[in-house]
Amino acid sequence: MKHFDVVVVGGGHAGCEAAAASARMGAKTALLTLQKAGLGMMSCNPAIGGLGKGHLVREIDAFDGLMGVAGDKAGIQFRLLNRSKGPAVQGPRTQADRKLYKSAIQDLIAAQPNLTVIEGEVVDFIRHGQAVTGAVLADGSEIQARAIVLTAGTFLNGVIHVGDKRTSGGRVGELPSIRLADRLVAFNLPRGRLKTGTPPRLDGSTINWAHLELQHADEQPTMLSFLNDQPQARQIGCGITETNQRTHDIVRENLERSAMYGGHVVGVGPRYCPSIEDKIVRFADKTSHQVFLEPEGLDDTTVYPNGISTSLPAEVQTAYVRSIRGLENTVILQPGYAIEYDFFDPRCLTPSLAVKGFDGLFFAGQINGTTGYEEAAAQGLVAGLNAAAMALGRAEVLFTRTSSYIGVMVDDLISRGVTEPYRMFTSRAEYRLILRADNADQRLTPQAIALGCVGEARRRRFEEKAELLARYKSELEEKTYTSNQLAGFGFKVRQDGARRTAFGALSQLDTPYQEVALRLFDFPQMPEAVLAQLWRESLYSNYADRQSAEAENLKRDEDLRIPADFDYAVLPGLSGELRAKLTQHRPSTIAQAGRIEGMTPAALVLVLSRIRSRQ
Ligand code: FAD
Repeated sequence: MKHFDVVVVGGGHAGCEAAAASARMGAKTALLTLQKAGLGMMSCNPAIGGLGKGHLVREIDAFDGLMGVAGDKAGIQFRLLNRSKGPAVQGPRTQADRKLYKSAIQDLIAAQPNLTVIEGEVVDFIRHGQAVTGAVLADGSEIQARAIVLTAGTFLNGVIHVGDKRTSGGRVGELPSIRLADRLVAFNLPRGRLKTGTPPRLDGSTINWAHLELQHADEQPTMLSFLNDQPQARQIGCGITETNQRTHDIVRENLERSAMYGGHVVGVGPRYCPSIEDKIVRFADKTSHQVFLEPEGLDDTTVYPNGISTSLPAEVQTAYVRSIRGLENTVILQPGYAIEYDFFDPRCLTPSLAVKGFDGLFFAGQINGTTGYEEAAAQGLVAGLNAAAMALGRAEVLFTRTSSYIGVMVDDLISRGVTEPYRMFTSRAEYRLILRADNADQRLTPQAIALGCVGEARRRRFEEKAELLARYKSELEEKTYTSNQLAGFGFKVRQDGARRTAFGALSQLDTPYQEVALRLFDFPQMPEAVLAQLWRESLYSNYADRQSAEAENLKRDEDLRIPADFDYAVLPGLSGELRAKLTQHRPSTIAQAGRIEGMTPAALVLVLSRIRSRQ
């Protein structure tokens, strides 16, 4: 029998990131997946990053993860979303060449020391009581591990729907994972059904591009990874078109034939990624919806029409697609479909994504009720780090709401659960002025270096950058100017006679104008990237100080751990309702307990005093 410290089941975005993170921690890791060739596959849209999601990618990158590096290698259209808004809510995104992305991930996995990829279907776990100690493959072979991370995505009892046709599948062309789903029943975990959908894929050579507006890549690209400055692949444009009244009529007339609306699907779909059927029903007064025509690769004519996912029958898909400007003669290469799958209520997980009540079992990705590559990869990072930490006898690696979007997501999932597929938004983070995509490395890479999961090249690059930022910031803070002097330089500052530091004055610039700042502050050597970063910090410094103080308060509550065996039954004065909720959710910290619906300050004080009396 083979032995590993950590076994990761599933080679999607969660699995690849989990396995790589575990291996970077120094754990001997196996990645078990149905198809080696499927590592790094994008099941749906060919894009990485975006609003909120770009923050997650940067945070994964800060831990030396795969997604940002692979996205930069495969990126064919880099755009910074929300460019006109403040840096805190801007989201780096790139459209990716599917094949390049896959091969970038496969190269990174192959080059990762401590990591072995094994092809096969996991059909069961080896258990000794509540300890999970290995995986059983379909051929009967067994692999032992100290910790297992399950990342089976949309495969557990996956059912694909096109109109009234149902087929079993994990995603198109791939078998579902049924035996493992059956075996997991014995774990008696709360479980439900969710669904997601994908649009038809179009043959780009049959699109009338001349009739379409084009959206181009940014002239000055913003990369996903802190390691990169420039795209590596050729940059291309996307077409933009829109649905019209006729498209909507076709969809409306055929609604009953859609798997979703014909009553064939029981799972709940992602509200923020609605199908064309959902759009027509939910936004009935809208006469048109934008459709982005995104090429799937540089040497591939397949086009992904972003905005029209569907589970209508194939012939209806052809009719509505051809009603759209520029797509009048378009050929569909693969019809859109909806997929329904099992997920587990993430409230059964701890902050390290370990399954409560079991030793050595972690869950990450779509099976925890999320949707999206970035959400999956970020959970993979958390579960991979923690599975390795457990296997190596090290302390848990925790992400909090005050440190990262990853912490926000994990906390949302484990304390609130999901009623629909969860995706990240900047609005989910209370402290978004301090949790920016641009400072993810400053926030997290020191922790990652301390854990020993950052490669030498990244460590050196990060430390050089941190040294430059600290040096120039302190020099800018030492120089002071009167409001008069600053006005003379063209700064819009209140004429209050007060002296301001050069660092504070930076925030008055609309953009980090190299020339003005360098002339004014006389720092000819300061690299432009350093100036741009200090400008962002200056922009938010007042608010950030306030948020940091609030975050400190929350952190104190997050640090107050509630023991896993805490007995709520013996707490006098706790209402029956709250006792039941606390016993069911088993919050790991006082902060999490505070977020349980209906929780009162008085109840929190009771829990707190009990913990203190036990210390
Ligand atoms: P997956 O990427 O699904 O990977 C699961 C992995 O587990 C696969 O490698 C599989 O081979 C492996 N596996 C499964 N069972 C076993 C087993 N028993 N043994 C060994 N290996 C196993 N996201 C969006 O953000 N927006 C969308 O609009 C969107 N639409 C989607 C539409 C469709 C049809 C699909 C399929 C997905 C869609 N997604 C969308 C979701 C996105 O693809 C997922 O969120 C993301 O891929 C989840 O990553 P994951 O690693 O959790 O799982």
